[in-house]
Amino acid sequence: MCLFCDIVEGKIPSTKVYENDYVLCFNDINPVAPVHVLVVPKKHFANMNELASDPEGALYSAEITKAVAEVAKIKGIEGAYRTINNCGEGAGQTVMHVHFHVIGGVELTERLI
Ligand code: AMP
Ligand code: ZN
Repeated sequence: MCLFCDIVEGKIPSTKVYENDYVLCFNDINPVAPVHVLVVPKKHFANMNELASDPEGALYSAEITKAVAEVAKIKGIEGAYRTINNCGEGAGQTVMHVHFHVIGGVELTERLI
């Protein structure tokens, strides 16, 4: 069972921001900023490493990149946003389906952590 596969399949509800054949983008249930959207590939990849090594990884990576920019535009934060991927439990990854946090609408400093 994978939470984000279930969300992609519509078995669990989400607040959709953007969708196409490759990605689903929805609001994070526990936002850390006024804008906090998750960009999730519709194909299951456990994490960034699996995305990178999969034969379809390049295709999905390109679609994820375009979706991140599209989400920023939709939310009106295209001039200032931060994209985060946590890879592995030690980095704070809690859902083992690769996803990218798009965060904005708040002052973002030069400090990453
Ligand atoms: P990470 O810690 O990088 O794996 O991020 C997982 C994110 O998924 C967290 O920010 C959670 O708040 C978010 N999350 C967990 N369950 C849901 C859900 N049902 N709908 C939307 N976001 C969720
Ligand atoms: Zn999944």
